[in-house]
Amino acid sequence: MKKRNYWKLRLNKKYIFWLLILLLAAPLQAQYGNIDKDYFEFPIQPKKENYLSGNMGELRSSHFHAGIDIKTEGKQGMEVHSSADGFVSRIRVGTGGYGNCIYVEHPNGTSTVYAHLRNFNEVLAQYTLEEQYKRKSFAVNLFPKRNEFPVKQGQIIGYSGNSGSSTGPHLHFEIRSSDQKVLDPLRIGFNQIKDNIPPVLERLAIKTMSIHSRVNDQFGRFEFNLRDENSQGLNLDTVQVNGRIGLELYAFDQLNGASNRNGVPLIDVYVNDELYFSQDIDSIDFALQKNILIHTNYQAERETRRRYNKLYVDDGNPLQFYVKRMNDGFLHVKPNEIKHVRIEAEDAYGNQSLVQFVLKGTENITCISDEIKSRESTYTLDNTLMLFQKRDSVNDKITVYNKEGSAVYEPSYYNNDQNVYLIDLRKSLPREVVFPNGEKQEIHYSDRVPAASEHSFLADTYSLQFSKNTLFDTIYLRASHYVDEETKHDVLEISDDIYPLKGGIIAQVQLLGEYDSLDQYHVYSVDNPRYPSFAGGTIEDGKLNFTIYGFGKYTLLKDLEPPTIKKRSVENNIITVTISDELSGINNFEAHLNGEWLLMNYEPKLNLLWSEQLDKNKPLKGEFELKVADNAGNESILKLNIE
Ligand SMILES: [Zn+2]
Repeated sequence: MKKRNYWKLRLNKKYIFWLLILLLAAPLQAQYGNIDKDYFEFPIQPKKENYLSGNMGELRSSHFHAGIDIKTEGKQGMEVHSSADGFVSRIRVGTGGYGNCIYVEHPNGTSTVYAHLRNFNEVLAQYTLEEQYKRKSFAVNLFPKRNEFPVKQGQIIGYSGNSGSSTGPHLHFEIRSSDQKVLDPLRIGFNQIKDNIPPVLERLAIKTMSIHSRVNDQFGRFEFNLRDENSQGLNLDTVQVNGRIGLELYAFDQLNGASNRNGVPLIDVYVNDELYFSQDIDSIDFALQKNILIHTNYQAERETRRRYNKLYVDDGNPLQFYVKRMNDGFLHVKPNEIKHVRIEAEDAYGNQSLVQFVLKGTENITCISDEIKSRESTYTLDNTLMLFQKRDSVNDKITVYNKEGSAVYEPSYYNNDQNVYLIDLRKSLPREVVFPNGEKQEIHYSDRVPAASEHSFLADTYSLQFSKNTLFDTIYLRASHYVDEETKHDVLEISDDIYPLKGGIIAQVQLLGEYDSLDQYHVYSVDNPRYPSFAGGTIEDGKLNFTIYGFGKYTLLKDLEPPTIKKRSVENNIITVTISDELSGINNFEAHLNGEWLLMNYEPKLNLLWSEQLDKNKPLKGEFELKVADNAGNESILKLNIE
């Protein structure tokens, strides 16, 4: 396919709609409109075709991918060129995130970002080294003076690498607008990247958005495979629905010459040929990144490992790229109503895919013929608790006990084998259910916690504090504190990892377990008991205080083992050591040579530290001392006399 100008393409296709958007969203448009197509040069091998391992807007676990990931032939050390004239405005060195990273500001107000570098060019490397020695710190975040380091387009500013949170060699490249929003480089236009592959629409989910809604006569969230393997085409029959429902799409885009599954920036939903919902991830605001957790379906991701893109906007979702949102994307289907739905997905190069289907409105029926999809005996979806029980046609009433009393429920629907009861958690927080056969089941909700307000949950031996910024939406908390029979240590468990957290929950626990002494005990998340993860915490007067950033199981563990330090080599005036720590993990390190601070570069992925002197010609000789501390406060020291 011929490479076409992005906006021209959109204007041709959806002329009126985009003209309206142009008028309404003039500031957003201007970000691209002001940029000359040739202003930027590709930062890696600009004379060759390049390949991406990630595109902009891709749905990552905790953020929208802000920029493009350019493949570097699987190796490090490729020349990285400044994309346009300008000056170096920021240099960052660190172990997480962008690793070694350069920011260049350009005369038109935009800036470009080059991340996960192996190293900087000579001039920038020398400046950074001097600053590291001045600050006695490996990790630095530097802001050189305006025009202190001018650069020309195409000039080498560094070499590609794998530093920071990168998991394979590549260059992460960003173009930012003057107000620091990230723009999509592919929309500005680089002919080094080719894409004539349309997005792949793999699965669709239809979800009931009210206790009275149904999808094919049932309450819940139902996934449909869109890829018919026999016909290679898209396949979705008429779906019978009733009430308020939401659509979710599982899709990905591929670019030429790479197998990576990238994000789909543009998704339009048409209902009876009218544009109903449209998202266009054409810029990313760092302040809103966390909302990826409600742009996607967190609960479904926990259950299916698939990250679905909601085609509706939840209450309190502040993301700006929903350019059309009739009824916030929610569909209302009345009995006998027919809605023709068409979902179109488009990549930054204008390649399109679509799926069409019919929603047919039905009345709610109680006796259904389909198989009932029951996971376990209970399941929580939004404000509704679902109870599944083997059908007993003589007596099918259940009694639900809550704090205030009890209520009797009949099945909301059933088939030959199973009853399904739907309980509105906004009205009642069940503690126990008694089924017709006399069987009892504890449900044990601890509390209903509203979003956007401060809330304390106080139990006998622990408390949980929610701030205004902890939750995205109301949650139904199930928490417990007990002493583990085997370890005799306290456990705090917040079950149902179905709710994303925006901020932390402050927990205080009265310790009831058996401990020889509480020194060097810390909280660890033990969702995977084989790999406990350090969560900190402090203990005072038998009370443990810590902050919870995710639901799950927490307990106290003791780390008495100091970190291990091993000398690897002393070669070419550089000492290389490996450091590691068993349980709590490395917290900090510091080296001295003959009493003077010595820079140690750190690559935690390789457990590697290596020295770098300010004066590279000075022989690395004398008393070398390296201190390494773990998160539990254990310290190791390596002392060497280098001759
Ligand atoms: Zn990246």
